[in-house]
Amino acid sequence: MEENRIFGNVCCNCGELFLYNVKYCSVCGFKNFKEKSFIGDGEIYSYTKIYYTAEPYKKDAPYIIAIVKLNEGLKVMGRLLGKIKEKQLGIGVPVKFVAKDKEGFKFKLAEVR
Ligand SMILES: [Zn+2]
Repeated sequence: MEENRIFGNVCCNCGELFLYNVKYCSVCGFKNFKEKSFIGDGEIYSYTKIYYTAEPYKKDAPYIIAIVKLNEGLKVMGRLLGKIKEKQLGIGVPVKFVAKDKEGFKFKLAEVR
């Protein structure tokens, strides 16, 4: 099943954002959270190229795994889809959220240059 939004949690006290369910806010220690959905557009914060990997991803290698800093504040690790040339990659390059499926979060470059 695919989701076209990123779901996370926001601390009801200080507003800190979390991608996964946490028991306590790591900033203020508060225990109450509200679910929040994120559109998921953002920019590359960090990335790495994966050449060797285990099944079932072998057929896809090499591919790019990036940490994306969402415009909405959260950092999310996911895969960059599509044929991407090295020169298109860099810190701060804009990306768009595509979907989340059983393999994880997927992004693509916002504009193909
Ligand atoms: Zn908090």
